[in-house]
Amino acid sequence: MFIANQNFNRLPESYLFSDVARKIKDFREANPESKVIRMDIGDVSLPLPECVVEAMIRAAAEMGQSASFHGYGPEQGYHFLREAVAETDYRSRGIKGISADDIFISDGAKSDLANLGDIFGSGVRPAVVTPAYPVYIDSNVLAGRGGIPENGRWSGISFLPARPESAFLPPLPVDGVTADVIYLCYPNNPTGTVLSLDKLQKWVDYALANKSLIIYDSAYEAYISTPGIPHSIYEAEGADKCAIEVRSFSKTAGFTGVRCGYTVVPRSLEFTFIDGTKASLNRIWCRRQCTKFNGVGYVVQRAAEAIYTSEGREAIRRNVAYYMDNTTLLRSALLGIGADVVGGVDAPYVWFRPKSELDSWQLFDRLLHRAAISSTPGVGFGKEGDGWLRLTGFNTAALTSEACSRLSHINDIF
Ligand SMILES: *Cc1c(COP(=O)(O)O)cnc(C)c1O
Repeated sequence: MFIANQNFNRLPESYLFSDVARKIKDFREANPESKVIRMDIGDVSLPLPECVVEAMIRAAAEMGQSASFHGYGPEQGYHFLREAVAETDYRSRGIKGISADDIFISDGAKSDLANLGDIFGSGVRPAVVTPAYPVYIDSNVLAGRGGIPENGRWSGISFLPARPESAFLPPLPVDGVTADVIYLCYPNNPTGTVLSLDKLQKWVDYALANKSLIIYDSAYEAYISTPGIPHSIYEAEGADKCAIEVRSFSKTAGFTGVRCGYTVVPRSLEFTFIDGTKASLNRIWCRRQCTKFNGVGYVVQRAAEAIYTSEGREAIRRNVAYYMDNTTLLRSALLGIGADVVGGVDAPYVWFRPKSELDSWQLFDRLLHRAAISSTPGVGFGKEGDGWLRLTGFNTAALTSEACSRLSHINDIF
């Protein structure tokens, strides 16, 4: 008799995005003349850079000729792309010790963030800084590590709440809190906050001292402009002995629909199996990929390679500047109405709370009904987020500036 994975039944429906979509639809039907501006979107609005499209066309043509056809590729990714990543994102930035052999090309960050759970031994307790991107918690619950749900928490997961009083900086686990594997995301989605090298070093030191593994999601690395903010966890001393870094081309090169990213599992990452024998995480992740994955398409990897040409890098710089101009406008509009604002400097997310006692959904409704602007309720990322809203810089410049002008006239709505 087949029995379905009970954990699917224990995971609450994710109502966040469906509730947002439904409320927008109802509002549009009731107010057909009003033009809703979507500031809740996590998808990008700019198309692929021209050099990326050209690379895809060339690669597609190669696939149509027997002399240049590519069948199954290496599960870890083609050397040309792994090498471009290692050279451009690590070596040329002064990060030594990361080479092509440490890079695994993926079909995006989300799948790897969830799939990495395959290499956790049984009994490993995850720790998640909240508010958080939902995959970290949900993938652990599906793998049976959630324990019992109790009042917005899971007994099997250590929650490390980042709070407004401390500018949403992540609190290190205190004595008595187990954090065998720690999820960190910087620049952060949803709060837009970043970690200084000092602070990041404290997490690395904690992991080294406690033999914990850090999974570092740096999907927004390219948005960092403040000097001194680390772009990679490997800028911290010793991180190559305790951290896996997960990156994505989605938010920088418009790859949300193309699907490509990479995961760095340094060969220096050594832990043990339960029987005490040594486990190279690079080797076991490679084994996992070879068992369950057949690699990213050739055409897609050639497209990703084009991001690393000088033309590609210039295109990324322009994309990031475009979205950050939007984010800066949003940030000033919100400061202008006296809101508490976090983020929006080194990340395309602005996290804010107007001076009011309303909860996230009440704020969401006000903003939608009185300014026709949609947002994402902060409570959807964890209960610390209640009372806050997230706006993104991913819409077009024209609609963002229209939204800002509406924001500047809504002083009294909250
Ligand atoms: C968008 C996003 C990702 C996922 O990106 P894909 O590569 O498209 O799967 C991962 N982490 C965070 C924090 C994100 O916001």
